[in-house]
Amino acid sequence: MQMISPCLVDAVDYVAEQAHRRVKRPSHCPQCKHHNTLRAIGFYNRSVTESRTGKIVAIKVRRFLCEHCHKTLSLLPSFAQPYRLICSISIERYFNGTTAGADTLQWNRLLRRYRRRFNAWISDLVLIVGQSIGLSDLDQFKEGSWNSLINAYGHLDQATRKLVRFFQITVFGRYRCHRPISPDG
Ligand SMILES: [Zn+2]
Repeated sequence: MQMISPCLVDAVDYVAEQAHRRVKRPSHCPQCKHHNTLRAIGFYNRSVTESRTGKIVAIKVRRFLCEHCHKTLSLLPSFAQPYRLICSISIERYFNGTTAGADTLQWNRLLRRYRRRFNAWISDLVLIVGQSIGLSDLDQFKEGSWNSLINAYGHLDQATRKLVRFFQITVFGRYRCHRPISPDG
C-alpha cells in the first residue's frame, strides 16, 4: 500500500537534503490499524520530473513493513504522483493552462496523454467520491471538472493525498499497487 506524505520541498531539494531519511514512521498501520507495528525496511527507487526544468530526478521512497499484518507501506512525497513520471506541480500548471514553462513544454506530449486519462476517468471518479459520506470538502468536486477538483482540494497534491487515502484511487485511475513506473508513464 502507498500513502502520500506531505512534502514541502521539490524533488531536487528532497534529494539534496536526503529528505527520504527523515520520513516519519506513521503511528499506526493503515491496513490493520494496529499501533506501533510499522518498521522501516529501506527504500525503493523511482523517477519524477523536477518542476522548473522538467529534468528527471531519481528519488528514494521510504518503505515500512507492518509486524502485525506483514503488509508493506510506502510513503510517497507529495510532489510526486503515484505511477506517473511528471510531478504534481507541472501537471497542475499544464491542466490549469497557465503560462508554459520549460517543464510543460518539454513534457507536452505526455501531459496531453495525462489529460486524456483524466477526461476518461473523471466520471468514474465522481461516482466513487460521490458514494462517500461525510467528506463535505468533496461536494464541489461532484461537478466533475478539473477546476472543481482544484476548488475542492486547493492543489493536485492535496487532492491525490485524499483520494489515495480514502479511495485508493488517483485523478488518473484506480490504484494498482506495486506496478513499476515506466519511462513513458
Ligand atoms: Zn498492519
